[in-house]
Order: sequence, then C-alpha cells, then structure tokens
Amino acid sequence: MAGKYNICLDIGGTKILGAIFNEKKEIVYRLKKKTKEAGDDADNVEKMIISVVEDMINESDIKKKDIKAIAAGAPGVIDQGAGIILTSPNLPWTNYDIKSSIEKKFDIPFYIGNDVNVGVLGEWKYGVAKGYNNVVGFFVGTGMGGGLILDGKMFTGNKYKAAEYGHMILDPEGPLCGCGQRGCLEAFSSKKGMSAYIMQQTSRGRKNMLAETIENGVFKSKNLKKALAAKDTVTIEAVDRACHYLAIATGNMINTISPDIVVYGGGVMEAVGDIFMEKILAEVDRYCMPSIRSTVELKKAALGDDSNIYGALAMIEDL
Ligand SMILES: [Zn+2]
Repeated sequence: MAGKYNICLDIGGTKILGAIFNEKKEIVYRLKKKTKEAGDDADNVEKMIISVVEDMINESDIKKKDIKAIAAGAPGVIDQGAGIILTSPNLPWTNYDIKSSIEKKFDIPFYIGNDVNVGVLGEWKYGVAKGYNNVVGFFVGTGMGGGLILDGKMFTGNKYKAAEYGHMILDPEGPLCGCGQRGCLEAFSSKKGMSAYIMQQTSRGRKNMLAETIENGVFKSKNLKKALAAKDTVTIEAVDRACHYLAIATGNMINTISPDIVVYGGGVMEAVGDIFMEKILAEVDRYCMPSIRSTVELKKAALGDDSNIYGALAMIEDL
C-alpha cells in the first residue's frame, strides 16, 4: 500500500523548513532547523537532511511506511529529473547525487529541484498563479531568483540553468554583484543589493535604522518592515531603488515572454510585499509595450514562506 503522507523540505543556506502533508494536502506537522549546525562537507549536509526527516518522522508519530515520498527545493543548478545537484552557491555540493543517497537511506522516493523553480511551481500549482499557462516568478530574498512556467510546463533550459534573470544586467556601470558582474537586478533589488546601498549611505554619514541590523551583508526582512513603518529615509530610498529596477526587469520579461502573470515571492515580499507591489505597479508601464502589458497580471505570491514547501509537494503529486 502506498503511503498517504508526503515530507516536503525547503533547504536554504541557513535553514531547512520541513512540512508533512496528509492526503488532503494539509500540513499536519512542521519543523525548522538551522543548516549551520551541519558543518561544511557534503556528507554533513546530507546527514542534516536525514536528521530533519528522522526528527519529523519521530516527532509527528507518522510511521515510515505511511510516507509516500520526500521532496525538496534547494539552491543551485539541479538536474531535477535525475536528482543530482550540479552546483550550489551556498551549499558545498558539486555533481552530488543526493537522490540516490536519500533513497538508499530511507527506501522512500526522493525528488529535488532548484528552490526558486520549486517556489514558482508551488505558486503555479497551489498559489496565486494556479490555472495560468505562462508564469514569470521573481523571488526577492538574500539574492534574486527567477522561475519560469512556459506553455504549462516548468522551463529549465539547457542543462537546467535557465531563468537566472536576477542577473539580468540593468546598468553595466552599476554596483558589483555577487556573480562578478555589475548592475544586475540582484545588485539593486535583493536584500544584498539593498543592504549594500544602505551601507554606502551609512559610510557617507547618513544615519538610518537598518545599518546596525546588517549581518554578513544582509538585513532581516522583519527589520526592513520596521524601518519602512518608521519612514526611515535611507531605507525608503533603498526600497524605491529596488522597486525601480524590479519594474524595469519586469518590463523586460513582459516584452520577452508575454506571460499571463508575473508573481513576486520570497522573504522580502512576504514581509513588505504590498509596498513593493504598489511601487512596481506605479512604474512598470513605462518599461513594456502597452499591448503586451494589457494581458498580464502582476501579483504577490499567495503562499508566503510556504511556496517552496508546496512546490516540493507539487513535484511529488503533479509532475
Ligand atoms: Zn549578478
């Protein structure tokens, strides 16, 4: 008898979120754990995933034989079909056959995909983009992720490397990006990009609320929310600048793809998405063709922090 529960994981550079879904696709158990405790080598991160899954099975009182599958979203270039992590920016994995490792350990089918692709998949199957055929997703977090659904299918391009439009260059003389280029969307509109602007202004002697909360080059989304609520001038500038470049990038994607919907997700959107949406919507018409703009909707993700968890479920249930 096939199991009736699914374990879904969102593997990040700093934490793993886990959820167990029942057969009605309701979350019946949740777990959150820091990845840092896992150390640096691949084997340890694998042990981390194994320990999270074991904890979830033990603490939820659900029997291993009742679990149908395990699925996860993780950062990096991932061969979703084979379950191999080709490269990952924040996790120490190269050509890492995690599917075989996890399946060997638990004797349960395991699926894995790129976290932003999986997040967009979640929004497409269970969230705000449900029922649409062409979806452009921007995920605004520490970095800037992209995910594409084209003609009703996840589009991953040659060797699973598509949809990196967080590194669309919007100003070749702009601020340095983590990828080595200048003026990428990510360098303006991600938490890293906004934090860099705030640090630059702070170094010029401009007081603000966010600078002292920045750790390892990024602020936390909840502190961004606080500073915006307090109408902190430098923070508002950083957000205006982020939304300006997001509007330009959105215009470019609208002209290129003619999507049915553009979805904005990730931690920043979860915290201050309404403010971002208002600013993006106020500008986007300048940067795309009116005839194409007229048939696209722009919306905030509906599942918040759970986009990836639901996307992992979609990998099990719908692909
Ligand atoms: Zn870049």
